[in-house]
Amino acid sequence: MNVTDLFQDQIPLLRPWTGEEEVRAAAEVILSGWISQGPKVAEFETAVAGYVGARFGVATNACTTALHLTLHLSGVGPGDDVVMPSHTCMATANAVHHAGGRPVFADIDPRTYNLDPECAAAAITPRTKAILVVHQIGLAADMEPFAALAASRGLALIEDGACSLGARSRGRRVGGIAAPTCFSFHPRKMITTGEGGMITTNDEALAAKARTLRATGASISDLERHKAKGVLVQKYGEVGYNYRLTDIQAAIGLVQMRKLDAMVEQRTAQARRYDAALAGLDEVEPPYVPPYATHAYSSYLIRLRAGARLDRDALLRRMAERGISCRSGIQPLHQEPFYEARYSGVHFPASEEAARATMFLPIFPGLTEEQQERVIAELRSALGR
Ligand SMILES: *Cc1c(COP(=O)(O)O)cnc(C)c1O
Repeated sequence: MNVTDLFQDQIPLLRPWTGEEEVRAAAEVILSGWISQGPKVAEFETAVAGYVGARFGVATNACTTALHLTLHLSGVGPGDDVVMPSHTCMATANAVHHAGGRPVFADIDPRTYNLDPECAAAAITPRTKAILVVHQIGLAADMEPFAALAASRGLALIEDGACSLGARSRGRRVGGIAAPTCFSFHPRKMITTGEGGMITTNDEALAAKARTLRATGASISDLERHKAKGVLVQKYGEVGYNYRLTDIQAAIGLVQMRKLDAMVEQRTAQARRYDAALAGLDEVEPPYVPPYATHAYSSYLIRLRAGARLDRDALLRRMAERGISCRSGIQPLHQEPFYEARYSGVHFPASEEAARATMFLPIFPGLTEEQQERVIAELRSALGR
């Protein structure tokens, strides 16, 4: 059965925008004789770094591993605390553990769903080593208060831009704003390479160390050795990892980068259509975009206002019954079983309210106006009075 048959009459929550161009790019690499990390990875790094306005890009096999390297190279190790939002993907916190640190959660701004600077400041302990800001669901956070906070307290600052490639804050693209930033190329994100990640940074030493650590700790890369016609021999000065992206993935990523602006445009047009339709539905609060930021709309998150006819879970079920795939909003980490036992008694009202009352609507390049009309009509008939 063809994959598209699975989607007949169904409106999926998301779908990657990949086609013949990606197939050809991957096939070329497969036939080239150089399949793992090599020239295409280098080209992809230059493309992403150039796009976001950072000096360096270091590709990895996921955002989780990009975050691990960045945390480690920012000095986070055993005994260190990292202040970060509870309202994020488990992967963000996993990376802190991989580096040996401990996540210390803080609450979000209920309007932007991004980390609240005052909550972050209040969460700082004598053991805090870093602040990890997440640009959540496509909306760029304001980095100015975090940069000031990190500078005044002598802390490292790291950005998780996993789902926000293409968004801007105060005119600058996520990845080129304030600190080393990690991206994901999982199919749920703005562009995809199947799996994949990247660090963008202006810090030359951090980039160089990340390049070494991602590839077994070797002092020179396979590509450098190849260019030197085999006369260079790598040395191992430390314990490294295998976090390499392949050239097959990077070739796909290069095609995706050429489509990125068009994808942001399509998503933005779809968001405007939802915004306009939902303005007439009192029960629903559309996403808020503060004046300093742009939204890349990797997701379209709505909040059900108190007193809506259906609660969020009932609405999700009803949409699913009608063939429209939506999903509940982000569930805060402090309520996940792993942390519940370890962080008992902590409460983050804005994160908890977002978990209860928010849900994602379908948004992706290729979603048609007719499909959006169906989503809107179902919301109206479910919630309208
Ligand atoms: C998806 C995501 C990650 C993890 O990315 P992977 O590439 O799957 O490791 C981390 N942080 C955020 C905010 C994400 O959305």
